[in-house]
Amino acid sequence: ARMLDVMKNSDKKLQEHATVNQGYVVTRFPPEPNGYLHVGHAKSMSMNFSQAFDTLGVPMDKRRTIFRYDDTNPEAESQEYIQAIRANVDWLGWKPWKTTYSSEYFDQLYDFAIQLIKKGRAYVCYQSKAEIEACRTILRDLHGRVASEGLVLTPKVLAAAESPYRNRSVAENLLHFEKMRRGEYAEGEASLRLKMQLESPNPNMWDFVAYRIKFVPHPHIGDKWCIYPTYDYTHCIVDALEHIDYSICTLEFETRRESYYWLLDQLDLYKPMVYEFARLNMTYTVMSKRKLLKLVTKGIVRGWDDPRLSTLNGLKRRGFSARILNAFCKEIGVTRTQSTIEIERLYAVARNILGDESPRAMAVLDPVKCVIENAQPLECIVPVYPQDKSRTETHTLNLTKEFYLDRTDVRAEDVADFFGAAPQKSVRLKYAGIFTCTSVVTDAKGQVTQVNGTMDWKNEKGLNPKGTLTWVPSTAKQCEVRVYSHLFTVPELGAVDDWESLIDSKNSEKVYTNALVDDSISSSKPLDTFQFERIGYFVVDQDSNAQRKVFNQTVALKDATTP
Ligand code: ATP
Ligand code: MG
Ligand code: MG
Repeated sequence: ARMLDVMKNSDKKLQEHATVNQGYVVTRFPPEPNGYLHVGHAKSMSMNFSQAFDTLGVPMDKRRTIFRYDDTNPEAESQEYIQAIRANVDWLGWKPWKTTYSSEYFDQLYDFAIQLIKKGRAYVCYQSKAEIEACRTILRDLHGRVASEGLVLTPKVLAAAESPYRNRSVAENLLHFEKMRRGEYAEGEASLRLKMQLESPNPNMWDFVAYRIKFVPHPHIGDKWCIYPTYDYTHCIVDALEHIDYSICTLEFETRRESYYWLLDQLDLYKPMVYEFARLNMTYTVMSKRKLLKLVTKGIVRGWDDPRLSTLNGLKRRGFSARILNAFCKEIGVTRTQSTIEIERLYAVARNILGDESPRAMAVLDPVKCVIENAQPLECIVPVYPQDKSRTETHTLNLTKEFYLDRTDVRAEDVADFFGAAPQKSVRLKYAGIFTCTSVVTDAKGQVTQVNGTMDWKNEKGLNPKGTLTWVPSTAKQCEVRVYSHLFTVPELGAVDDWESLIDSKNSEKVYTNALVDDSISSSKPLDTFQFERIGYFVVDQDSNAQRKVFNQTVALKDATTP
């Protein structure tokens, strides 16, 4: 709600901006192409492509969102990521007004750096990372003493904490920055720093590095540069150059607001409105790149698109469609309160949408053969969308002498509260009729290997059994079905070092290699979804081939009775 207030209060500013942007309102989605996008990025897209405009009441035809690759760290970035991110944005259905790259502004950013040097607002510094850090430690200490003992931060006091290169002449700085650009310094030997406000209690005002040397080609613009601008230097300037009205980022960037505006002031550039919102955290998932990478490289999961991961490619493979993810992002909304969203909320949205959309099919994950002693062929007419009375599609299942039940629906001995097949018990076979078990065959371990029984074709006995079982005919297709549950044994990993010991590699993926699914799935393609009645929602996996389909369980039915 506060988010809403903050944004609405800016209406005056919005009007100012409206003249620059000719009545359009401009936001941006600025991922760095240094990894695969995850569900948190879906939330950011939802915000930047839709929810921010909804909040502000911007009409559809006045909305513009720039999709910007924030590509300032070439060593971490790649074409692979650039393309994968594009595919994710398209898949979610967002239509950027235009696509830009921070790297395409490098010439202008360089010119601005020269301007800053000329204004005495930037200097070439030879301090090492450790030396810069040591100065910052002194500064932190000095600022602490302002509060505790009333220390006054005069230039003389601050001198102890500043870079020894801070006060060199403009001419020297121009010369050495040019040397940096020409590759005459080694990596780490020199950097360009902004001359900011050491007297500010905000560490982001303590002369952050604007340019560093990297002898690394850039995935988008090649090997033109050996100096690269930092995120802090680049982000605000590119926001300004693109006339972004609302620069929306996650809360941890709040402390960077001051330096964001400071730099734009120095350059006398247009100033976007900056807003922060809470980043998405979700139970049982990790979104940290480092952790995701480890799961992938150690082979703990099937790849970046493993159905247990929170990557958009993983969620897609798991059967969470763009519609589901966008609805989920809308439902959780955008707030400034940091919280962890229960993954069950995503599951609930999925059940709602898939419940409406998905065709029904019958499947048994762990089949047990059943034999009808008084067999006579029966054509069962099965509705494809029983949830939707306006749809009349059906398919036909032939119940012949043999059919299959799921092992969880079969017992060698009947017990109270069991509604499946057991000797002398009657059950209803969905869409077919009443089956009475006469005997079962068991193996040495007591496992049922076959169920025998009779069909009460006309229900002459007037039976009304409690259990209704899903079944598949003898013509059912053999499939592989992968059933997923949480990747971790605890909902939140917390700050543990040994997070890998919390991975549930044994139970998070259960594979049924001999599952049988009724023939209605024969012509399905990857990403098609089904409800397997009484079990859950399933999606056709990319590992499927002409002979054999592979299904991933998206979510179980809320009241799943099997498996
Ligand atoms: P990561 O730590 O995953 O690298 P990031 O913030 O560096 O996160 P970017 O690629 O820079 O990732 O993110 C692009 C946009 O998505 C940014 O505006 C960022 O704030 C937003 N974003 C990233 N992660 C989340 C999240 N978990 N929830 C909401 N927004 C996020
Ligand atoms: Mg990132
Ligand atoms: Mg980032």
